[in-house]
Amino acid sequence: MLSKLKIIFLALNKIKKIIDTGIDGEQTIADRQTIQFTNAGAILWIASLIPFILLYVIIKPSAFWPLIIVHTSSILLLLLTFHFNATRQYLIASVWANIMVSLPVFINLWFFFGNLTSNHFFFILFALFPIITIPRKQKWAIVAMLLMNLVFFTLILEHKPIYDLSNHFTAEELTLFRIAAILLTLAFVIGAFYIYQQVLYRSQQKLEANSTILQTVLAEVNQLATLDALTRLWNRRSIEERLQIEITSAKRYSNPLSMIMFDLDRFKHVNDTLGHDTGDEVLKRIAGLVKTTLRGSDIFGRWGGEEFLVILPQTSLEGALLVAEKIRHTMETYWHDQAGVVTASFGVAALEQGENSTSFWKRVDNALYRAKTNGRNLVSVSIEDQNFSRVLAHIEWVPEWETGDQKIDQLHCQILDYANKFLDYSLTETPHKAILATLEDFYTLFQELCSYEEEILRQDNYPDLGILITEHQAALRSIQSLISGYQHREINPVTLYCFITDQIVVGHLINSDMKYFPYLETQTRVG
Ligand code: GH3
Ligand code: MG
Ligand code: MG
Repeated sequence: MLSKLKIIFLALNKIKKIIDTGIDGEQTIADRQTIQFTNAGAILWIASLIPFILLYVIIKPSAFWPLIIVHTSSILLLLLTFHFNATRQYLIASVWANIMVSLPVFINLWFFFGNLTSNHFFFILFALFPIITIPRKQKWAIVAMLLMNLVFFTLILEHKPIYDLSNHFTAEELTLFRIAAILLTLAFVIGAFYIYQQVLYRSQQKLEANSTILQTVLAEVNQLATLDALTRLWNRRSIEERLQIEITSAKRYSNPLSMIMFDLDRFKHVNDTLGHDTGDEVLKRIAGLVKTTLRGSDIFGRWGGEEFLVILPQTSLEGALLVAEKIRHTMETYWHDQAGVVTASFGVAALEQGENSTSFWKRVDNALYRAKTNGRNLVSVSIEDQNFSRVLAHIEWVPEWETGDQKIDQLHCQILDYANKFLDYSLTETPHKAILATLEDFYTLFQELCSYEEEILRQDNYPDLGILITEHQAALRSIQSLISGYQHREINPVTLYCFITDQIVVGHLINSDMKYFPYLETQTRVG
């Protein structure tokens, strides 16, 4: 029993091999289908012709010898199909198989029925066959085959049958013969369609398997392209892309966006003393450690070497400082098996109004540099952000700013009032128009201050008057461009406030004007 099963299995395997004749893995799926279907069709047809031959031999070989010859030759000629497929002549193979299938059928019909043919279904069946056996793109071959079948069929209908079967057989025998012929043909057709379905099913499965493999490979390629191989964090390229996206989104929705860059302290020493592998382990461990301190929405990546970067969407500078401090503390208190404590230095910055990614990088990088130079294992804020947080308070007049000239002091006081006003504007909802009007008033006031200072100092022959005038003009131009920026809603009240405090109060009033204060006092005293 087992050995019989084995034989069947081996036979099936052999048939499968024959069906795959000519397939070498380089063809397209469509070509494979054609090859397999043509080969399978040829096998099936050979299997169908053999019973016919046997039938003729058993019934009356002397009467049927021409048919025995035709069928035997078409079996032999059908073998050429495998040869054509093996030599990559797929189209010739399928056309050849079609001819070899149709020819014996029509010769049979002619021999037995001729113009008595009533079995039109034979014609329809075999005329339609090329549509499924010849590749769809070879339309001309399909049409040629249909025409050939039409010619055969017309020829048959014009000729008398060669055999008058009633001379040779009884009516019962004839019926039996017809039934046998029809059954054999039907068996062939059903078998052919079954094989057709199988071939389609197999290629579909293959396609699905290929697409699964493709998806897995794609996912791997994607991972390789976006993740850092050692730490499995986002790599530099992904981080850069993500930052652009986050900047655009933060600007569009006016959301805060912050960034932390950190660099391990004296990491070269770890590598030099414990080896590169231990260094790698530490990098991996730190990546995992820091991940646990972050939110899911934070974007954490390896910037390169022992430098890391965290993008914090929807996070203000204060929030980012807290995160950086938390990471710093986590690292400071973690004991690595061999390397012990490994600390890092941190730079933190928050995206400013209208800022691009290059400037944002630069500021966070500068902050990191300052953390390094200030002693490491520190969190440092970008200088611009430091100004921002330092001046986010009302400015009070200090006696050192008194010039001795009442009017100048009064005007300087008014400038402080304006700075404080813009701070209030940035904290409250004030109409755009009202703020613009205040800004224009501020310009007029500053103009008045400049003219008055220049006039007084001219009278007093102040030696650096030329420099002061140039500075005044530059400051006035800046205020004009602020007005225009504010008109076009490109800047907000915080920027106005920062400008007045940084450029006018600190830059001009304190740094520049204070140079002439003693001079003015002297002159006043002399006067
Ligand atoms: P500093 O505190 O100034 O940052 O000192 P440092 O030694 O960390 O700085 P430096 O930039 O001179 O050295 C960085 C070292 O980081 C160089 C290299 O030994 C190490 N490093 C960079 N990338 C890797 C890596 O992928 N694996 C390992 N094991 N070490 C790395
Ligand atoms: Mg370092
Ligand atoms: Mg470094």
